[in-house]
Amino acid sequence: MKIKMKKPKLSAFIKYACITAVALGIAVAAFTKSQGGKTRMTYTDFLNAADGGEVAEVSLGDTSEFTFKLNSSDITYVTDNPRDPGFKQDLLLKGIAVTEGGAVNSGALGSVLWLALFGAGFYAVFHMRSKNGGQKAHSEMALNAENVTAGDMKRLSFGDIAGNLEAKESVADVVDFIKNPGKYASYGARMPRGIIFYGPPGTGKTLMAKAIAGEAGAPFYAVSGSDFVQMYVGVGAGRIRELFKTAREAGQAVIFIDEIDALAKKRGANPGGGNEERDHALNALLTEMSGFSSGDGIVVIAATNRLDTLDEALLRPGRFDRQIEIGLPDCAARLEILRCHARNKPLDAGVDLGALAKQTVYFSGAMLENLLNEAAIIAAKKGEQTITAGDINDSYYIIVAGSPKKDRSGIKERERAITAYHEAGHALASKLLQPENSVAKISIIPGTKGAGGFTVSIPPDKLYYTKKELENQMIMLFSGRAAEEIAFGAENVTTGASNDLERVRQIARDYVTKFNMRDGFFYDKETEKSECEALLGSLYEKSLFTLRSREKTLSGIAASLLEHETLDEKALDELIA
Ligand code: ATP
Repeated sequence: MKIKMKKPKLSAFIKYACITAVALGIAVAAFTKSQGGKTRMTYTDFLNAADGGEVAEVSLGDTSEFTFKLNSSDITYVTDNPRDPGFKQDLLLKGIAVTEGGAVNSGALGSVLWLALFGAGFYAVFHMRSKNGGQKAHSEMALNAENVTAGDMKRLSFGDIAGNLEAKESVADVVDFIKNPGKYASYGARMPRGIIFYGPPGTGKTLMAKAIAGEAGAPFYAVSGSDFVQMYVGVGAGRIRELFKTAREAGQAVIFIDEIDALAKKRGANPGGGNEERDHALNALLTEMSGFSSGDGIVVIAATNRLDTLDEALLRPGRFDRQIEIGLPDCAARLEILRCHARNKPLDAGVDLGALAKQTVYFSGAMLENLLNEAAIIAAKKGEQTITAGDINDSYYIIVAGSPKKDRSGIKERERAITAYHEAGHALASKLLQPENSVAKISIIPGTKGAGGFTVSIPPDKLYYTKKELENQMIMLFSGRAAEEIAFGAENVTTGASNDLERVRQIARDYVTKFNMRDGFFYDKETEKSECEALLGSLYEKSLFTLRSREKTLSGIAASLLEHETLDEKALDELIA
């Protein structure tokens, strides 16, 4: 027999009241303790102290403030956290000790108290959510917005963004609009309420949004689309309303929504039907945007890697009606980005940034920044005076293939030979079929990113690729697998080609369906598959044919790789000649 128990409502109330009281008590205790020994300093004074070599140690976290100590006293100071990605490195280069993830000397007791507070808070929120279906939960959750107001950090301007000239030009009027919304209203002009930046990761979309806010002197609120997609209906929509309310109160503002696709993917793109919560949040966003008047200096900027996946409702006039592509930088822009990130680094006179810009086709701004940063770390570890061309070279290969594995004792001779033939195949095919590419380096040293070896074949910057060039690219990608087959037999080809095959399949699909480089303009799934199969079959045969016609050279390159582990372009050219 089941006995239905009636829930003791009063005791539940008392329980939550107790939890809240305990949490509050703990919060007060922790707060009192953490503020107790801290003295506030302005960020500018902190910078002066750091430049003057007076700062001993800094403790950074992901909070709006950080703590530090001076050499001259034992006082713990607190100041605003600029949350700038290069901040930690700047400090390290000044010789300041940096710890992450806590306050300087906050002590174990402080951590325990905060843990207890977090635990109690989590318990209360979790229980109330599960009882109320989350309807009220959003009001208790702090909005995860990065509010950067003037004076909080060094404001970014367009001068901090290298390249991206077209994008800067396309948003210049938006900056003016945020500053003087009245001017545009008096002409009856309807300025874009929303702008979408789209392009590959790391190309500077966030940077551009920050610079717009910086140029306009407006507060910047950054959130991510996924912040609004919660399990409970109403939470995301509530957060959106809260965000816009804060922005409206600020008068003028730039609201930046990264990964907008999490919130606004095309309907039907999601197997299993729509997501009610996401639709609620998206509707709330569109409603809030349509609520702006032309006199409000508020602009919403969203970023995505794929414009084509977005719900069309988002792109209608009056919504995100300006869409700006921020693509990978060309050679001139790469040089500018490299110069921009080299500014605060002691580069050796022998470093040729122009040559480096040429070698970094397909690198995004973030990868270029990372390239110089890794090189700076390598130089700092070695204790060198300057960052040398050698450090940048090492950093380049770490970014392309991961750090070289130090312990290679577990790799069998047979596996080394397979890798040597595989890479020799790529290198030889590239030299024979893509003479305008530069084969900068071949290596059979396994990297920490999982590759057994690698061949770096650098194409020149190009606007278009011809049909022949695409075919040669696919043959080159097949040549690792083809070389394995030639050397060890069709039965013994390995899984080492999986990445090449994935890329080859993608190019083949585009070749057939996007660029219509075979007969026919319309394909259903079945014909697309058979066209791709036929194309790839014939290209693999061509790959075998190309390598067989130079089989001795192929073996020569493989043998040289087994002996030296890496080869540069000069050595490769000599072997082929
Ligand atoms: P994601 O799509 O992954 O969010 P994103 O396009 O928003 O990336 P950002 O976060 O703006 O890219 O850029 C990352 C970092 O790359 C920047 O902090 C900066 O250091 C560097 N960077 C990117 N583009 C540029 C550029 N044009 N000039 C200078 N630095 C750049």
